[in-house]
Amino acid sequence: MLTALLQSMEGHSVRLYEKRREYTRTRMVQLAPYLVADSLESYRADAIDGDSVEAIFDPRELDQGLAFRRSIPPDLGALLQSWSLGFCPLKSIERSISDLIDARGNGVERTEAVVTVEDAMAMLQPGDVLIDSTGARSLLRDHLVPGSDEGDEDANTLKVRLEYALVVTFLYGQAYDCNEYCKYHKNKENPHYKFIPMVHRTHFDGSVSHVTGIVNISAEEYEAMPSRFDGEWLRGNFPGVAESMDRFIDKIKQETHGEMLGDLEIVRIPLDLYRARNATSRHVLTGGTSDHPFATSPVFLAGDSAIGSPYFQSISLGIECAMFLAGLLAQRDLPLRDMLDRYELYIYKQWLRVYMRSKMIKHNKDLFESLDDPLALLDKLHIY
Ligand SMILES: Cc1cc2nc3c(=O)[nH]c(=O)nc-3n(C[C@H](O)[C@H](O)[C@H](O)COP(=O)(O)OP(=O)(O)OC[C@H]3O[C@@H](n4cnc5c(N)ncnc54)[C@H](O)[C@@H]3O)c2cc1C
Repeated sequence: MLTALLQSMEGHSVRLYEKRREYTRTRMVQLAPYLVADSLESYRADAIDGDSVEAIFDPRELDQGLAFRRSIPPDLGALLQSWSLGFCPLKSIERSISDLIDARGNGVERTEAVVTVEDAMAMLQPGDVLIDSTGARSLLRDHLVPGSDEGDEDANTLKVRLEYALVVTFLYGQAYDCNEYCKYHKNKENPHYKFIPMVHRTHFDGSVSHVTGIVNISAEEYEAMPSRFDGEWLRGNFPGVAESMDRFIDKIKQETHGEMLGDLEIVRIPLDLYRARNATSRHVLTGGTSDHPFATSPVFLAGDSAIGSPYFQSISLGIECAMFLAGLLAQRDLPLRDMLDRYELYIYKQWLRVYMRSKMIKHNKDLFESLDDPLALLDKLHIY
């Protein structure tokens, strides 16, 4: 996204390093509608964090964000619009933006390579800007604070583990949509392992519904599972979870008279909320280590490198931060220190927003698990 944004701006040439030859990730993802908002009202329309947006961001910066969106070139804007319409496979987002960069044919030099920390440091020339968007296991995140040359794991990472979960996806041959009442009634006979389709996680494409949701599991169960498996493996090894899924899906069938197509696809993941305490090389710059390569060429973390959040929001967050960073880099006369400070502040505000949102979702999920048990429910409420 950053490459496509910078490619369309005057005065930048981009070198893009990517280790993968092909984009193959099939998981269905959804982008937040706020990414294509054209007014403040639609930007803050989200039921969970609409108020936080107003509390955290200044009206001026929200206006600037909207103005930047309006300035996005039509080819890229059309892609954003199409991704935000519903579910789409991650690889189609990756491929379509990659094709767009190639079709424009200017200002980007691509290299297929695994970049190491040493490579990144060695290739920097004065005047370069280095952007690390290498995902959750960021290459540079833990190298951005003075004294962390060995890249101590977590030297610059704040992590909050919210829960362990199974992400379960299946296809269903009828239109099926879900809301909070549906989540409750379809899980009524499931005292444990409630399957919770996530907010807007069902999508009917005209003939098939894609349904994705999560089931909370314990740390011990997480350890005993492979990272990816199907319904058959689940049935043989964790029959309790499989029965819970069956009950949920049977209720969908009773209601809509369709059939599940194929098997369940299951991934087990820890749901972590994390951020880079420093999302730029600001501290290296001010730390007096003038021989450090990052002391002359600024580094920015973008996407999952900078912030990661569960409950299916990270791509939108990453794109949002990419737009802000591209907007900063477009201001050629902005002093470097200001640029770094402004990016840090923006990332911190996005962190506050997503932290509050994720904690709220987790809290609501916890309450939901105990809806039929008033005493357990009260235990989870801290009213005053
Ligand atoms: C099951 C699941 C479902 C999800 N669903 C959603 C959803 O619905 N909505 C949502 O917003 N988010 C979702 N997410 C999160 C989303 O997939 C990530 O937030 C997003 O892919 C992060 O994008 P990124 O570009 O920052 O990092 P990545 O997608 O991880 O991309 C990093 C890139 O860097 C390359 N790379 C890494 N290291 C190197 C290196 N050393 N040298 C060269 N190249 C390198 C990789 O090959 C890769 O292409 C989901 C995640 C999971 C696990």
